[in-house]
Amino acid sequence: MGVIHILNADLHCHSIVSDGTLTPEALAQRAKANGVDVWALTDHDEIGGQARALEAARAVGLRYLTGTEISVTFAGITVHIVGLGMDTTHPALVQGLHATRGGREQRARAMSDDLARVGIPGVYEGALKYVDNPELISRTHFARYLVEAGICRDTNEVFRKYINDGKPGFVPHRWATLVDAVGWITQSGGMAVIAHPGRYKLSTNEEYALFTEFKAHGGQGVEVVTGAHGVADYVKYAEYCKEFGLAASRGSDFHSPEESHTDLGKLPDLPGSVTPVWELLESRIQ
Ligand code: AMP
Ligand code: MN
Ligand code: MN
Ligand code: MN
Repeated sequence: MGVIHILNADLHCHSIVSDGTLTPEALAQRAKANGVDVWALTDHDEIGGQARALEAARAVGLRYLTGTEISVTFAGITVHIVGLGMDTTHPALVQGLHATRGGREQRARAMSDDLARVGIPGVYEGALKYVDNPELISRTHFARYLVEAGICRDTNEVFRKYINDGKPGFVPHRWATLVDAVGWITQSGGMAVIAHPGRYKLSTNEEYALFTEFKAHGGQGVEVVTGAHGVADYVKYAEYCKEFGLAASRGSDFHSPEESHTDLGKLPDLPGSVTPVWELLESRIQ
């Protein structure tokens, strides 16, 4: 494999524009300090931080790919699709993401009502203190507030006890469809990538259906090396790359210095057998 294969690419992270705690500028500086060569900011259902991220990347001498991470409902669960290299002014992408963000406010109020019923009041107002983008209130903001309120020790415990599926503060939500999310990304000139597949609670058949349908809709990549994967996942999804004819991505999914286990750029290299997404996205790198 050529030298491009071992670039330190980190193509998945979050800023204050979604549920991260750092600004796009601070993330660019951190990525640079950690030795990243190619970076993408992939805020949930948002591209509002892209101009700042590109400018900050230029300022510190980082190569940049535009990015987002779209929430999708598939087989009754939430699946994330990362988009890389899109034209962030494309109307299909802009409108699709706007519509996807639309239900968050209502979901947040319903979550807060449900938590009040189990004796935890004022969570909506508390979570808002952690929200920078009024269109993007996330479960992560709820988790930060419940830690602050002393209800749980860390955000992971909040998800486990209160806001994961089946827990008292979980409110089912219908996100974008797989075909729409992949369509918005590809119509705007980008590449759709299945985010952290090792995290989903899908049966073997459902996972096979996800990859098959994703590919049929025009999806081209899958995250092989990410903060949420272990070595067994690297091996498994590198195999899926071959089986489904997909390129491989690499991204930390960094959210916060206090909360994230994997820092920007601090990931193992992709396995040698796969085609890195950044080889196919060369012309989209800025
Ligand atoms: P939402 O899009 O509002 O449903 O929030 C989903 C976000 O919650 C994910 O992007 C993660 O950042 C965060 N999250 C999910 N599960 C956990 C967990 N177990 N511990 C901490 N954060 C989590
Ligand atoms: Mn997140
Ligand atoms: Mn995700
Ligand atoms: Mn993410």
